[in-house]
Amino acid sequence: MIPYPFEYRRAKSLQDAQAILANNPDAKLLAGGQTLIPTMKMRLANPSELVDISKLAELSFIRADGDALTIGAATTHGAVAASAEVRRMIPSLAHLAAHIGDPAVRAAGTLGGSLANNDPAADYPAAVLALNATIKTTKREIASDDFFTGMFSTALEDGEIVTEVAFAKPLRSGYQKFANPASRYPMAGVFVAQTKGGVRVAVTGAGPGVFRVTEMEAALAKNFAPDAVASIKVDPADLNSDIHATAEYRAHLVTVMAKRAVEHAVAHDGH
Ligand SMILES: Cc1cc2nc3c(=O)[nH]c(=O)nc-3n(C[C@H](O)[C@H](O)[C@H](O)COP(=O)(O)OP(=O)(O)OC[C@H]3O[C@@H](n4cnc5c(N)ncnc54)[C@H](O)[C@@H]3O)c2cc1C
Repeated sequence: MIPYPFEYRRAKSLQDAQAILANNPDAKLLAGGQTLIPTMKMRLANPSELVDISKLAELSFIRADGDALTIGAATTHGAVAASAEVRRMIPSLAHLAAHIGDPAVRAAGTLGGSLANNDPAADYPAAVLALNATIKTTKREIASDDFFTGMFSTALEDGEIVTEVAFAKPLRSGYQKFANPASRYPMAGVFVAQTKGGVRVAVTGAGPGVFRVTEMEAALAKNFAPDAVASIKVDPADLNSDIHATAEYRAHLVTVMAKRAVEHAVAHDGH
């Protein structure tokens, strides 16, 4: 296969990365490369320039301040999983990160890369949506309800870089996924979070993009118990059917994973 040429640039700073993107609309950010490089290998993307932000210290951090937990966009899945701060404040988020892909993927893949890519089967979007996190970029702050706009698409504009994600410590939360045995991507993953503002339930891996289940949210707001969601079904018509599972089976999995996620949240009482 004929290799196609591209320039590799390691950004010296966030500003430097922004400047390179502004000068070359055909340039692409490189974070962990766990999605972009395979996509380039498959000739589904061929940027003329790669701007590596993976080593920028200003994007690689985990900061806890009272009930606020902020994670830099270039923080790896492995660092999130291992972080004492994340485990203390949102253990279900550490649990989620610890089950992304395999050790090699977790050592390189980043929170910002996962959100910007917005794979319909990515784990992090379920956490960000259920925890009502705020995505901060080089241009603005975006609420989670406005960030995920569809399959592999987000509210991000050209040249806009995700810098960090701000979470608030929930009262209780839980995440459970039915993972594809090969890739570990969720075929159905459900994140439930009970915060002072109410209950949010987000589903990934089952539909064309991450989505909330307001019927389950209403039931859990009344009674935060596994049985409250045990008989709630999502409509298979909105879900994916593929070689791994039918839409009907995914709908069934959503209910089972939601029940287990609540069990996890109740059993661990958020800790
Ligand atoms: C074998 C394998 C198994 C996997 N299993 C799972 C799984 O179980 N669950 C799961 O959720 N994911 C899984 N993944 C995907 C993994 O989590 C990737 O790390 C993630 O999708 C992309 O993150 P990255 O840092 O590698 O981004 P990259 O591949 O570097 O970039 C992805 C895209 O995001 C853009 N981008 C990167 N950073 C930013 C930023 N800060 N601001 C704006 N745009 C940005 C890039 O330009 C590119 O378009 C798997 C991947 C592999 C290869």
